[in-house]
Amino acid sequence: MTETESENSGAKVVPIKGRKCPMCDKKMEQKFRPFCSRRCANLDLGNWFGEAYSAPSDEPGELEEYFSDEE
Ligand SMILES: [Zn+2]
Repeated sequence: MTETESENSGAKVVPIKGRKCPMCDKKMEQKFRPFCSRRCANLDLGNWFGEAYSAPSDEPGELEEYFSDEE
């Protein structure tokens, strides 16, 4: 019998330090994680709100007028 249990190389833990800001790829700052700065954190928030506000509103007003005019 051979005992080769000392080879535990597959479970490499990735350190939390060294992660990058998802917004600009700079080094992540613990204080603003997962971002590098308050600026990037705000940018991300802005994206969220921006999307919420720019949601497509389907008001058929203009389209209907356009089609009824084309006879
Ligand atoms: Zn950043």
